[in-house]
Amino acid sequence: MRLIMAEVFNSWQGEGGSVEGSAFGRRQIFVRFAGCDLHCEWCDSKQYIDASRVSRWRYEVEPFTGKFEYRPNPASLEDVVDAILRLDTGDIHSISYTGGEPTLQVKALKALMERMKHLGFDNFLETHGGLPGLIKEIAPLTDYASVDIKDETAKAVDDWRNLVLREVKSIRVLREAGAKVYAKLVVTSETKVENVRWYAELLKGLAPLAIQPREPIEIGQERLMELYREAAGVMGRKNVGLSFQVHKYLTVL
Ligand code: SF4
Repeated sequence: MRLIMAEVFNSWQGEGGSVEGSAFGRRQIFVRFAGCDLHCEWCDSKQYIDASRVSRWRYEVEPFTGKFEYRPNPASLEDVVDAILRLDTGDIHSISYTGGEPTLQVKALKALMERMKHLGFDNFLETHGGLPGLIKEIAPLTDYASVDIKDETAKAVDDWRNLVLREVKSIRVLREAGAKVYAKLVVTSETKVENVRWYAELLKGLAPLAIQPREPIEIGQERLMELYREAAGVMGRKNVGLSFQVHKYLTVL
């Protein structure tokens, strides 16, 4: 089994805030897959989007040291498992599969998730959620999931509404399989209130929503409150929260 990897490291989960299903503030081992089929304007993993250009991957030698070893792509499943286990500090909440988009390599992802479950770890999936057919294959192995709702301002695809509907479908698939799921919505000063209302209507009764300002933060507090109020009005006040990319303030990975 071969994987196109970007990196493996140990850090704090900085996103998700306090909504149910979030692992904010928990320690995780992050497994970043190379490759993504979307093109969000503010993507912070742009160097990993075209998997064919990611000729090598890296793993942290020791947590928080910033020291990495490099290996050529594609990686073997054994090498990735080995890198993960080296970074097990004994206080790991879960293994985070992130990207890029991990579900694009669903067979390898599934094999890795199975392996980590077998070794006693919980699986945490970070996905754009646009591929519910692939999500189905790994949903039974997923303990936690953060699924994006891509706002129109992300300009991730041409048919943005259709993407949102597929993301909601992925959330439903994961929920039905028993995973704890929350939806993550990155907002900007251009995000429309009526769009947030639409997302909230789709998510109502399905999953909580973490609203995350785009980094560097350019949305004003008043606007952010307005979007929050709109979502909470539809979904219920206990089902919405803010999320910030706290790991960036800590200057850790
Ligand atoms: S889905 Fe994530 S990895 Fe893919 S382009 Fe958007 S922000 Fe980047």
